[in-house]
Amino acid sequence: MLHLLCVPAGSSASEIFFTKAMQQEYGRTMLVTSSTFLVQKARMQGVNAANFDYLANAVLRQRGRVRVRRISRRAQELIVGNLLQSLQEKGTLVYFAKLVGKKGFLRSVTSLMDQLGSCGVTPDEIANAFLHWDGRSGNYRQKDRETAELYREYIGYLVSHDVYDVAGMYRLAAKELETLLQSGSALPWDTLFFTGFYQFNAWQLAIIRSLSRLCDVWVALPYEAGRPDLYGAMEFTYGDLMRQAVLEHIEIPEPQRTASLKHLIKTLRAAEAKPVPSDPGIEIWQTDDRLEEIRTVLRDIKQVLRKQHVKAEEVAVVVRRMEDYSGLRVLCDEYGIPAQLRDSASLAANPVFRCIVLLLSSVPLHGREKAESWSDFLTQPLQRIALGLPTQTAAEMAKAHYYTDYKTFLTDVLRETGCTALQNLWEAVEEIKPEAAVQEYCEKVLGILSATELKGKAGQLYKEGKITLAGFKNIACAQDALTLLLQNLPQEYLAGGCEHKLITCADFTEALTEEAEKVSLTLQPENQEGIAVLSAVNLEEAAFKQVYVLGLREYEFPHFKNENWLYSDSERADLAALGVALPSSADGYREDIRFFANACAAASERLVLTFFTDEDQGVSPYIGEVESLFTDLKIQVRKPERESSASLSRTELELALARAGQAAFLQQLTEGGAEAGSSDRKRIDNAAGWNGNLADQALRLQVVQQIGDRFSASKLETYRGCPFQFLVSYVWQQQSVEEAEEDMDPMQRGSLLHKVLEIFISRHLRETLQAARWEELWQELDTIFSETWHAFAEEGQLYAGDFWQHDQEQQRLLLQQWLRKEIYYSEAGVMRPICTEKDFGRGADQMLLEIEGRQIFLNGKIDRIDQAGDAFYITDYKSGQVPKKAELLDTNLQLPLYILAADRLVAAKEGGAVIGGGYYALKDGERKESFLFADAQDGNLPWQTYSEMTDADGTKIPINDITVLQEKVKQVLADTLRRMEQGDFKPAPSGGCDAYCPAAKICRYRLLKPDQDGEEGHE
Ligand code: SF4
Repeated sequence: MLHLLCVPAGSSASEIFFTKAMQQEYGRTMLVTSSTFLVQKARMQGVNAANFDYLANAVLRQRGRVRVRRISRRAQELIVGNLLQSLQEKGTLVYFAKLVGKKGFLRSVTSLMDQLGSCGVTPDEIANAFLHWDGRSGNYRQKDRETAELYREYIGYLVSHDVYDVAGMYRLAAKELETLLQSGSALPWDTLFFTGFYQFNAWQLAIIRSLSRLCDVWVALPYEAGRPDLYGAMEFTYGDLMRQAVLEHIEIPEPQRTASLKHLIKTLRAAEAKPVPSDPGIEIWQTDDRLEEIRTVLRDIKQVLRKQHVKAEEVAVVVRRMEDYSGLRVLCDEYGIPAQLRDSASLAANPVFRCIVLLLSSVPLHGREKAESWSDFLTQPLQRIALGLPTQTAAEMAKAHYYTDYKTFLTDVLRETGCTALQNLWEAVEEIKPEAAVQEYCEKVLGILSATELKGKAGQLYKEGKITLAGFKNIACAQDALTLLLQNLPQEYLAGGCEHKLITCADFTEALTEEAEKVSLTLQPENQEGIAVLSAVNLEEAAFKQVYVLGLREYEFPHFKNENWLYSDSERADLAALGVALPSSADGYREDIRFFANACAAASERLVLTFFTDEDQGVSPYIGEVESLFTDLKIQVRKPERESSASLSRTELELALARAGQAAFLQQLTEGGAEAGSSDRKRIDNAAGWNGNLADQALRLQVVQQIGDRFSASKLETYRGCPFQFLVSYVWQQQSVEEAEEDMDPMQRGSLLHKVLEIFISRHLRETLQAARWEELWQELDTIFSETWHAFAEEGQLYAGDFWQHDQEQQRLLLQQWLRKEIYYSEAGVMRPICTEKDFGRGADQMLLEIEGRQIFLNGKIDRIDQAGDAFYITDYKSGQVPKKAELLDTNLQLPLYILAADRLVAAKEGGAVIGGGYYALKDGERKESFLFADAQDGNLPWQTYSEMTDADGTKIPINDITVLQEKVKQVLADTLRRMEQGDFKPAPSGGCDAYCPAAKICRYRLLKPDQDGEEGHE
């Protein structure tokens, strides 16, 4: 029999179920629940408990299916990829034809297969639903046919190979239960209790229904009939269960709460909510930024714990996504607050893994690139342990000599260091083929890993006190996890039917990295007796005296999921009406409010909601909802504590004393206190060794090595714009020294316009565009735009959201404006486009500059080159701001570098010369800030130009010709390289901070700038 118990907000049926379960024999009942927390809670009370996967497996075991092969997500992707490939070869794919082989598409389509599986439709049912879908265009009908075909093939593959994805395992369990029912056999349980779930998918519901015909099944579902806005995520599950269940009316005891908290839980999203006065049980705090938000919360917790009002285990810190608060563990330690929080990091970020990636990356390379790659590998600090190599020697050799052959480099390093481990490693790496089966790659890497004896060497160093225990564990855990990963990966390919498929070493490295990103290494054991730090998605039935909910900001909490581009929300709504209930982005909103309500309901005595806002994200709408439920609930603006007497952590005290200049007092503190204080002073005073002011010679050398000698204009401009931003972007975050693309972010609309113009112009090279042909030209441009727009959307490079149509229209207007101006320039002048998207810096088109005895290589892509006789002119399309004249040869290096490159690589080859270059401001639809050499003969251009640079004191200096320009470029580059070598990476934004600066959260520019926003200054 199926019993449904509706649980009102803030209550729990667990205790009721525990009591019922304990009245029966232990093995004859089981509590099935959603989280490990609830499983543990039940087991501690002596109740047999497990999660849903365990239940499904138990059913299968009961039916003698002991070896059900569950496949991973990677295996699913491999299967789907193979099926798409074979459909492509059969000529079945038209709509998806161009997308096969694209990674984003493969992910989306695999996720669609999952969603179809979870909603319980068979291939016939989905094909039938598509068939009866009225109002579909021919194009979309083709998409539907291909989706149905792929789903049929996918399910067919799983069945014929006897492997199961998650939905498949549930489907099998549901089928076995049906057989059990028909055979009249019994289950090992008399009663099953389901709690802690707020929804079930179609197969889980089928399992519950079948189970309820074999034993007593009780389901507790959070649900209140009068609050559809709060229980939207449960509607489907409630409706389905109610078709068979008996609705039980058992009084569920309400936990003790303050009056305000009770009011909040009862009226959040209720139809009629009358505001009431609040009590101290609820507070809302606003802080300046995320760090201050965490510090303010931890200070409060420390004070509460000191006063012994509550125990640490009675306090919870809740965030929506743990990855947004990765610094929490360290800050809890700083304040001496015990926390039940795992300090973990992904295997992909571990130095052991990164060394393997560097090694594999070198395999397909040649010449200078391969030598650089080996030099990167050998200068990793880990090589001191793994190979016993003096990395400093390797770094100095790589710097002193410009190696174009890796063998010469390795031979020199071997001669200099006599490192036999390197000799062996080199031989092993030579055996790695550029193309091989995954099994072969895994075996080779396993061989290399075991030959390094890394774990043993690290253990020995730990015993000798040369590395810390944490350092040893970091290496040992990474080696174990990587070994396991390399042993398992071939199994995934086997399950996906790709065990013999040859892949490139680069593809293998990418696959290995993707898998490593999913492996989390625990760096510190989880503390069982501290404050709980939890994600809001895991809070079903959690209960604490005090709860702090952080990050109540737009897009963070609620956290919105993007609409799926394969089948949009409106298509999903149509499909739901046809009986195929796929999840939509609106389901995400409905789930999110559930998470917020759970976080609020977890508090019994005090709930603190915190947030900060910035230019990009305002306050969460949940804050407004909570405020509206009370007559007097005000947002409290919390400022950082600056008095040393109020400091609650060593860092706070040091900073406060250092700010006050109390060095003598610091000296009297614990040993090292003065040093720590002086560190803060140094930080504040921007002393050598602090704030991007690199003092250590060896470190500078390594940084220069990391920067390399390949530069794009944007890389150089980033340094000129702010050296600290450069350090964080290109050195700390290990961005590729040589950028593949320097200007286009495929997610941005600007790249769409670039692409459209590239296609259009390449069809009209050397042509005069005439106003008389306006209709025809516009028609052509508009068609290119529509096709490119769709191609971008299908590849997931553009998001088809609510403003889709509006956006599209805006871009179309910009193009219209552009074409009118382009026709005008074409008719009024003599310059004609001769090429688009001209790459330089690769292959034969190397762009080398000698700067004070150092050779540097430049790379980039010139959007367009025009020609008139032997005069050439370069153009860069800008969808955003156009660099100003005054920035030329300072922060604007793109134009000068591109002019030099085009002159050397294009114009000179044709016996001509570049006379200048400028920008096309796409949002204004016209050329702007166009440069022309002062001595240019063919300067009859139909747009405004300038011919000088502005030096530091505002003097205008004419740039007569390419020789002068090259000289100036060399001076700027010499200055830039010299500053880099001197370790000058201070935060110094030349024209205000970049809105997207990746260093914004860690840079102390605002603190160091005197009187900036009332913050502290140097003095
Ligand atoms: S936030 Fe500003 S000062 Fe700091 S690194 Fe970025 S650009 Fe430079």
